[in-house]
Amino acid sequence: MLVIAPHSSYRTTAFLDAADLLGVDVLFASEGKYSVVSAYADGLHIDLKDTEGAIQTILREAARCPFSGVVGTDDATTELAARVARELGLPHNPSAAVKIARRKDLARKRLAEKGVPVPHHHLIDLRQSLTAQAEAVRFPCVLKPLTLSASRGVIRTNDIDQFLRACSRIGQLLNTEEVEERNRILAEDFISGSEVAVEGMLRGGELDVLAIFDKPDPLEGPYFEETYYVTPSQLDEATQTEIRQRVNDACDAYGLREGPIHAECRINDDGVWILEVAARTIGGLCGRLFRFGTGYSLEELVLAHATVSPLLRPAARPGGAGVLMIPTPAAGILRRVEGVLAAQNVRFIEEVSILVREGYQLVPWPEGSGYLGFVFAHAPTPQQAEAALRQAHAKLNFIVAPLWKLDQSPGDAVSATG
Ligand code: ADP
Repeated sequence: MLVIAPHSSYRTTAFLDAADLLGVDVLFASEGKYSVVSAYADGLHIDLKDTEGAIQTILREAARCPFSGVVGTDDATTELAARVARELGLPHNPSAAVKIARRKDLARKRLAEKGVPVPHHHLIDLRQSLTAQAEAVRFPCVLKPLTLSASRGVIRTNDIDQFLRACSRIGQLLNTEEVEERNRILAEDFISGSEVAVEGMLRGGELDVLAIFDKPDPLEGPYFEETYYVTPSQLDEATQTEIRQRVNDACDAYGLREGPIHAECRINDDGVWILEVAARTIGGLCGRLFRFGTGYSLEELVLAHATVSPLLRPAARPGGAGVLMIPTPAAGILRRVEGVLAAQNVRFIEEVSILVREGYQLVPWPEGSGYLGFVFAHAPTPQQAEAALRQAHAKLNFIVAPLWKLDQSPGDAVSATG
């Protein structure tokens, strides 16, 4: 199995573990020539910025040692994975469909063309007069980069002043990122209501919804850092059916046919709205949650699907499961994390996994991207799982030192700014 991953992907360990459990041989293709992570260092070295070169490198390797499937772990690699799989005659999504799923402007356009409801939206060009462009905006409005993920750079604005400040802030963020579009962003109506995440698996265009996660904390902005996910969903059956149908409509509209999808939807009196459907799994370590529900991690299900082996049959297990993506408490340098044992000892908590180590810088949303860690719960009911996560979170205490930057302009004395 070939797994194509950016060198900093969170998902690598999850795919390695899954391959181990299934007895599948995996080769990682990544940019990790000098990586200390052996999966990258010993894997196939490619340059993700040179798609054609990367495809040739992979095809040469495939001629030497054929692959039975190809998986792209993150947004940065799903298009490449689709193209490689097509060349090798393996199940794949059309690369145009993967591109639409990755680009928020193209996704909105396609959904609208296919009659799937979308909020009022349009592109903002950061190089043009923003005051003039703001005239077409209806407040509250959500501004977002076209290709980042994990809610990075997504900002709600309620008036023109906030709109202007947010545009400049997103522009600064995009200038520091390797993105294909740094001059244009999307502005769309804020959709009120509750939010769910949906994980599904496509096979030959048929969508199998694996889980619907409720997000019990309201996501009202101005920033949209994720926190709690709880499953099974407590929404009524009719709403869940509408969610499945809407996500299915979006996959059809984009042209997605194979492999995992991760969708986010909002629900209000007007029905179910697609925020996004990405052609990949959920981020972080969240795939582990599926073990509690199905007996398999999400990554095991993905590998099994990609090997075209008989699909693993997830067994529905009773009970509720949840994850807390630990929010960043403040900007600064992480000094230490207290209360991990106490959090671990909360009833129904399965695991507390702190990923950021002492001395590392914490950057809150909307510029930040990394979660401090994850807490997993499994309980007889979803409500108990959520309560356990909240209790565990309350026991964690993050000691963060302020960050002092030394600015030195030529000829100036050194000055410290906090
Ligand atoms: P990303 O791909 O970076 O996660 P999304 O478009 O999915 O970007 O937006 C991230 C989050 O921002 C969503 O999960 C949601 O909470 C919020 N959001 C995005 N667009 C809207 C909108 N139009 N109305 C309300 N909330 C939104």
